[in-house]
Amino acid sequence: MKLLEGKRAAIFGVANDRSIAWAISEAFHAEGAELAFTYAGEILEKRVRPLAEGIGSKIILPCDVTKDEEVEKVFATLKQEWGGLDILVHAIAFANKEDLSNPYAQTSRAGFHLAMDVSAYSLVALAQRAAPLMEERNGSIVTLTYMGSEKVIPNYNVMGVAKAALEASVRYLAHDLGPKGIRVNAISAGPLRTLAAAGISDFKSMLHHVAERAPLKRNIGAEEVGKTALYLCSDWGSAVTGEVVHVDAGYNIMGM
Ligand code: NAP
Repeated sequence: MKLLEGKRAAIFGVANDRSIAWAISEAFHAEGAELAFTYAGEILEKRVRPLAEGIGSKIILPCDVTKDEEVEKVFATLKQEWGGLDILVHAIAFANKEDLSNPYAQTSRAGFHLAMDVSAYSLVALAQRAAPLMEERNGSIVTLTYMGSEKVIPNYNVMGVAKAALEASVRYLAHDLGPKGIRVNAISAGPLRTLAAAGISDFKSMLHHVAERAPLKRNIGAEEVGKTALYLCSDWGSAVTGEVVHVDAGYNIMGM
């Protein structure tokens, strides 16, 4: 029997086939899960729909996570079509370009709010609606973070602050939803070339830096994040909740 046979997963955050959420989707699909996808806008629909349909997905819905009515609609549809939900993947983040290049000290109030809303609060908005669908099903929620939450990574700026809030949210959600048997975890991935990464100034030097200094002396592959998500969202991770698991070739353990 496959690891996720009979499981139903909602995936938020596929932009294209380089997205971390897509690597996770491929890992879940290979292990027998049925998947539903959301996309953030019409332009993305053109990229997400063919990918989703290619692996047999029948539920493909618009969802800008800053709009409560779109979020509500997604979970109403999941309830109607599936009756319940086993897995939720949250792989969403956004900050204004200038806030990922100017000094952090210059972050505007509006830029701060936007990054926090899309990148941190959205997990709470999704989890609170997913939870009623996950009861009695040992549900699992997983989000994506980056070590810019723990240490200063030049240019990551407001996103590092949003990721710190996201990781704290993972712990509070794990506490709240644990009694219902729902687990909540984060994967702290090493740098990967994706659309979101393209917004970070001098991203290339982050890749070089990691390959030089990480214990494994290399960068990671998105499929390695997929495998860790599989562990966290399957029975293999049944006693793991509230954790931030680093998938970064060990980079985060280095002091010098
Ligand atoms: P990606 O392919 O660009 O995925 C980011 C996703 O967030 C896109 O689908 C994007 O849609 C979506 N998004 C942005 N604003 C949204 C909104 N208001 N409503 C709904 N969706 C929205 O990049 P990725 O690197 O795979 O990012 C996925 C997650 O991994 C993010 O949380 C990111 O911070 C995290 N992460 C990435 C790295 C890395 O190096 N790439 C490392 C660690 C963690 P649009 O394209 O329409 O904005």
